[in-house]
Amino acid sequence: MMKPILLIVGAGPGDPELISIKGVKALQRADVILYDALVSEELLAYAKPGCKLIYVGKRNRRKEFSQDEINQLLVFYAARFTSVVRLKGGDPYVFGRGHEEFEYAAKRGVHVEVIPGISSALAAPASANIPLTKRGVNESFWVITGTLTSGEISNDIQLAAQSTATVIILMGMSHLNEIVSIFMEARSPLEPMAIIERGTMPSQRVISGAAAGIVQQVLENKIGTPAVIVIGKVVDEREVIRSLDRDLVETAFKR
Ligand code: SAH
Repeated sequence: MMKPILLIVGAGPGDPELISIKGVKALQRADVILYDALVSEELLAYAKPGCKLIYVGKRNRRKEFSQDEINQLLVFYAARFTSVVRLKGGDPYVFGRGHEEFEYAAKRGVHVEVIPGISSALAAPASANIPLTKRGVNESFWVITGTLTSGEISNDIQLAAQSTATVIILMGMSHLNEIVSIFMEARSPLEPMAIIERGTMPSQRVISGAAAGIVQQVLENKIGTPAVIVIGKVVDEREVIRSLDRDLVETAFKR
């Protein structure tokens, strides 16, 4: 008999074509797929007939499945089926609790493997034509969570603001006012900022401009979640591309 296996698979940032080939093969072989709210439903079409599709995202718009419940479900199914896939948005190890699931299942004797995914931290800026690094512009980037388990803002944002790094903030929209104040103070009111809502999806929207005007833009355009916040000089590079001949840029993307 084949050894049962649990695969923790990164689904990519939203566009269903941004999953890896290894990820697609895992979906095609799976007997059970447990998936999250941010995973594209189109990916589930790769499942074979009879595969169990189990949604473990937000419940009734209110309660979420607790991490404990999800962990237990993973072990339950891994004990009964040969191939179980845990499909998670972006990369499973970037603010995704993928490693907690790995640990929990492995401690209970399940063979677990992880298939990385393209994180929204990288893909959303790229999709908005913002390079996270550009020669002569910056030397590093930080990816930070805006919201800690306690609900508070991460102190790392304050530290990052003191550097020249590009700063990418996930789960930051509920602390946007504080984030903007921190960067206006530590850098400048003119510090370039962008917010990418539903990055890589057909409904993607992007706003960008000086830190001082960002909150106003968010309110005017009713920018919501999921969204990635990008701060730093590289954000201006977006304008370089936008000022190019439109036809030329669009053809390049469609190729
Ligand atoms: N593991 C995921 C991140 C999970 S945390 C990854 O690697 O992408 C959830 C946060 O990710 C959201 O609050 C949002 O900040 C960000 N996010 C995920 N998908 C996104 C998308 N398509 N567009 C913009 N932000 C996204």
